[in-house]
Amino acid sequence: MNSIFLEQLQKILEEEQCYTEESMSRHVTFRTGGPADYYVKPSRKQIPEIIALCKQYEIPWIVIGNGSNLLVGDRGIRGLVMEIGKYMDQVTVEGNRVTAEAGALLSAAARCAANHELTGMEFASGIPGSIGGAVVMNAGAYGGEMKQIVKKVTVLTPEGKEKELSLEELELGYRHSCIPERNYIVLQAELELRQGVLTEIEERMTELRNQRNSKQPLEYPSAGSTFKRPEGYFAGKLIQDAGLRGYQVGGAQVSEKHCGFVINKERATAAQIRQLISDVQDRVEEQFGVRLETEVKLIGEF
Ligand code: FAD
Repeated sequence: MNSIFLEQLQKILEEEQCYTEESMSRHVTFRTGGPADYYVKPSRKQIPEIIALCKQYEIPWIVIGNGSNLLVGDRGIRGLVMEIGKYMDQVTVEGNRVTAEAGALLSAAARCAANHELTGMEFASGIPGSIGGAVVMNAGAYGGEMKQIVKKVTVLTPEGKEKELSLEELELGYRHSCIPERNYIVLQAELELRQGVLTEIEERMTELRNQRNSKQPLEYPSAGSTFKRPEGYFAGKLIQDAGLRGYQVGGAQVSEKHCGFVINKERATAAQIRQLISDVQDRVEEQFGVRLETEVKLIGEF
């Protein structure tokens, strides 16, 4: 712990925005993972100051949203974790355009769009991520993806400058954008939707929610689909056909309800989850010659 760095950090942030030795299990949907040295929840205005401070004291930093696509190692994260969340969660609507700050939850933005009778975002209403995380991952479900609705995104560059990126510049592909490789921080996104009918939008949202509830093991902590969909296959089907339904390493399990989900069934450590992921990758490759790639991002020290 660098006490001078911490002192400076505390000058920028309020007490409730700044933590040390903060267990990451509280901030990721897998509900496991070790402590971050520094954990901050900044407002938009505070981000450039925090980054400048990290650079000055050579403290590494990472950005997270709602932690719904992350597996954090048991030994935690050295450096600073910046959560883009409740201090950056405004959503505004003008005509067909929804402007959402990066920390707004997809569910909240979709609700707001629905209230304004705007359609096109129903697919995202049940994805438990933030707008920032959804842009980074080009989150998608049930035939929809962020690429279809994002008009432009405002990011902070590593040099601390705000920059607007058009849809083309974002290079959105299957669970991919240019954001991580450029070290950008998503600040807000402008979405373009279409006029719709409230009852129809709500009906679609309910239908998708029911599908999720019936097919996904939402009663257990997880990070959603653990693996990307390999070209020409479904990850869940390959895992099931490899005989791995219910396969367990410690408290980590291949969900019996949906083999594409690795769940934290009972106090799993990150190491157990990682071991299980690796076992699944090996067994599926041995049997079908397909190497599954993780959609979940592994961060920190294991
Ligand atoms: P995090 O998990 O916090 O971060 C993900 C990545 O984005 C990290 O690399 C992080 O560094 C980066 N990041 C986050 N915010 C920012 C920012 N503001 N600026 C720069 N980088 C940032 N995903 C789907 O696509 N479709 C689904 O149907 C789906 N269903 C799910 C169901 C469940 C039950 C769960 C737990 C997860 C599901 N997911 C799904 C995965 C996850 O919700 C998405 O990937 C989501 O977009 C991640 O958003 P997040 O805010 O939680 O990001």
